[in-house]
Amino acid sequence: MRSLAVIAALMSLVFSIEQIEAAPNFIVVFCDDLGYGDLSCYGHPSIETPNLDRMAAEGQRWTNFYVGASVCTPSRAALLTGRLPVRNGMMSAKRRVLFPNSNGGLPESETTIAEYLRQKDYATAAIGKWHLGHLPEFLPTKHGFDTYWGIPYSNDMDALKGHPNYRQQSHLSATYMPKIEQYNVPIIHDDKEVERPADQTTITRRYTDKTIDFIREHQKKPFFVYLAHNLPHIPLFASEEFYGSSPRGIYGDVLAEIDHGVGRILDTLEELELDQNTVVVFTSDNGPWLPFQTHGGSAGLLREGKGSTFEGGMRVPGIFWGPGIVEPGAVHELGATMDLLPTFCSLAGIDVDASSLDGHDLSPVLKGESEESARDAVFYWREEKLYAVRQGPWKAHFITQGCYGIGPKKEEHETPQLYHLEHDPSEEYNIAERHPDVVDDLERLAEAHRRSVKPVENQLER
Ligand code: MG
Repeated sequence: MRSLAVIAALMSLVFSIEQIEAAPNFIVVFCDDLGYGDLSCYGHPSIETPNLDRMAAEGQRWTNFYVGASVCTPSRAALLTGRLPVRNGMMSAKRRVLFPNSNGGLPESETTIAEYLRQKDYATAAIGKWHLGHLPEFLPTKHGFDTYWGIPYSNDMDALKGHPNYRQQSHLSATYMPKIEQYNVPIIHDDKEVERPADQTTITRRYTDKTIDFIREHQKKPFFVYLAHNLPHIPLFASEEFYGSSPRGIYGDVLAEIDHGVGRILDTLEELELDQNTVVVFTSDNGPWLPFQTHGGSAGLLREGKGSTFEGGMRVPGIFWGPGIVEPGAVHELGATMDLLPTFCSLAGIDVDASSLDGHDLSPVLKGESEESARDAVFYWREEKLYAVRQGPWKAHFITQGCYGIGPKKEEHETPQLYHLEHDPSEEYNIAERHPDVVDDLERLAEAHRRSVKPVENQLER
C-alpha cells in the first residue's frame, strides 16, 4: 500500500512539473464601469464578492492599478495593445467612444495580446463586449482571436424609444430592471449576428458558460480568454437566480452574478488541473458612472468617476490569481491594464519590442522576484490631451474637469495642481505651492512624454 502511495505522489509531482513547464494560460475578466470601491475585498460595505475576495487572498490585490483611459473604447484598446489609445487613433474629443454608426475601429497595424500569443500557438477567444469596431474588418476574429461571441459595443446602445432615463432616479428604484426589448443590441458569433435583441438577463451567465466551454475544449494547449462583461454598465440586468439577492440593489445583484461566474471559472481550472499554470486577472475598463446614482458603482474614497482623469475615473481593482505563478499579497506598486501584454508575453517566453509599448512587464512582481514594479509613471489622457501625470506618490493635474455634468468645470492650470496620493488619496489638498520642485519635475516628464506621441488618423471620428 505504501509503495502505491509513493507512486501516486511521484505521478502527481510529474504532473505538476508538466503543468508548470507548459506555456501558461491567461484569462482576463474585464468588467464595464465597475468602480475601485465596488468589491468587498476593496472595502465595499454591502456588496458581497466571495470569489473575487478568494482570488485576492490567494493571489495579488493591486491598489494602484490603472486603465489607459477613463471611458470604454480607448480603455479596451489600451488593454489589448499595451499602448496608449492616443497613439492608435482610438481616442477623440468629439466622440469619446465608438457608436453603432461609427465607421472606425482598432487599426490592423496594431498588434493585440492575442496576436502575440498566437506566435506560440495559443488558442484565443474574445467573449463579451468588444467596442473596438463592430464592422466586419474590426471584429475580434480580425485581431488575433480564433473566435468571438458577444455584444460588439455597449449594452445601452441601440436603445429604443421609451427606454428608462437613468438620470431621473426619482422614479427609478435601486432594484429597477428594464425590459430586454428596450435595448436592441445584437449578439455576434465570430462575424454573424445570432440574436437581437440580446437577452441581457442571461448575458453574464452565458459569457461565463462560453468561457468554461472554451477552457474545456482547449485544455490540452495554451489558451487566452478575454472575457469582457457588458455589465455593470447601465442598463443593469440580472438572471432570475440573482435578481433581488443583494442588499445593494440590482447593482449588487449584477456583481454577485459576475462573482459567481468567476468562482465557476476557478473551479473549472482546478477540476482540469490547470490552476497551477493559469493566470486569471480581474479588472475594470474605467471608474463608476456616477450620474446614474444607485445604478452606477462607487470609486470608494477616490475622487470622481468614469470619464474624468481624477483617480476615481482611472484607478480600478486589479486582482491577479495563479497559485502556481503568482506570489500572494497586497501590492501598492503602480500597474496598468497596458502592462498585461508585455507581462503575458514575458511569462509565455515571447519577445516584444518594448519601445513600441506603453506597458511594462509586471511578471517579476507577480512571481515575487521583485518588490518594485517596472512601471514608475501613469499618464492620464483625455480627449487627445494629457490632463495629468503621476510619478511615485505625486500627481500633477494640468487640466481638471468633471464628467457627465458632475464635478468641476474644465480648467487649464497655469501652475498644475499637485496632490500626494498616499497622504491624500481623495485628491482634496492641492500642495503645489509647497513643492515647486516636484511640479517642475512632473512638467518635464509630461513634456517629454507629449513629444513621444505622433499624430495618427482618428478612428472614433470616422
Ligand atoms: Mg466602461
